[in-house]
Amino acid sequence: MESHEDIARILLRYRAFLIATHVLPDGDAIGSTLGLGFGLQKTGRRVVLSCPGGLPDSLSFLPGSNRIVTPDRISGEFDAAVILDSSDLDRIEGIASRIPSGVPVINVDHHVTNKMFGTYNYVDPGAAAVGEQVYRILTAMRVPVDRDMATCLFTAVGTDSGFFRFSNTSPTTLRIAARLVEKGAEPFRISEQVYETKTLGSLKLLGRVLDTLQTDEAGKVAWVEVRREWLSEFGVDEGQTEGFVNYPRMVKGVEVALLFRESAEGKIRVGMRSRGDFDVSALAEAFNGGGHSRAAGCSVEATSLEDARQAVLRKVYEMMAAAR
Ligand code: 5GP
Ligand code: MN
Repeated sequence: MESHEDIARILLRYRAFLIATHVLPDGDAIGSTLGLGFGLQKTGRRVVLSCPGGLPDSLSFLPGSNRIVTPDRISGEFDAAVILDSSDLDRIEGIASRIPSGVPVINVDHHVTNKMFGTYNYVDPGAAAVGEQVYRILTAMRVPVDRDMATCLFTAVGTDSGFFRFSNTSPTTLRIAARLVEKGAEPFRISEQVYETKTLGSLKLLGRVLDTLQTDEAGKVAWVEVRREWLSEFGVDEGQTEGFVNYPRMVKGVEVALLFRESAEGKIRVGMRSRGDFDVSALAEAFNGGGHSRAAGCSVEATSLEDARQAVLRKVYEMMAAAR
């Protein structure tokens, strides 16, 4: 395992980079990609930034967001690839096959479930966001952080910590955030863009989804469902269901919150949240997914939402019984 200082030294050996992050990217994925991209550019390096499927509207306010291309548009040579916020290579989908063998892969991530797929791995589950790790790397490289970089990295750290409400928020998270504000990040503007600016359709969809909210008999597990036809009905893409899984978690007494969504590939996407000791990263791993102990996800091969729910609930109860 490499430290942030090791990664700083390693990055300085190369001239051109592919920087890539996971499908259905969140603020940490995009903020870290842009922050590192700008930082490497300042040292005279060339960068290509990529993410499968493009990015959600809610993050298009970030400076440089239009530079992030889909895998089919990756062009030019690069002599190293940096993969951010992805616990395995499946998360970057078609990008993985665009990395020639022999090109070193630098894996920077904070998921406990990380598969250590890189030539070099800097994996820190103690970091609230990859944005924290990128900040450390850039600091070790002595790259000055400008306003745009600060905005991107603050978005990364702010969103993955739920704006400093989640259990992953540490003194270091807050110190790095404070530094980024000193460098020009504006928390009120960022939170307004990310959390307070929704399309009418996505709010209407939330209403429909909240109607599906249920708990089990014991009131320990709660879930919501998103049917595929609702997305077209409300003119909403799947990225706009981000955050919906937080509602079942709010139900008093609930320990495990789940969101089941019919996805394009005929699979069921499952978002998972925990409020307590239950480790949803282990639950997600049982279905080949991954994540953090309190926030994780996976795709389940199932023909209906009901089948997926039964399979996941069965595993939840099995794990709860084993923990007793
Ligand atoms: P979200 O529910 O916000 O999409 O994801 C919660 C956390 O779980 C994030 O850190 C995300 O990267 C991770 N995650 C979500 N889905 C998957 C998946 O299918 N595979 C893996 N490895 N991680 C996932
Ligand atoms: Mn993250």
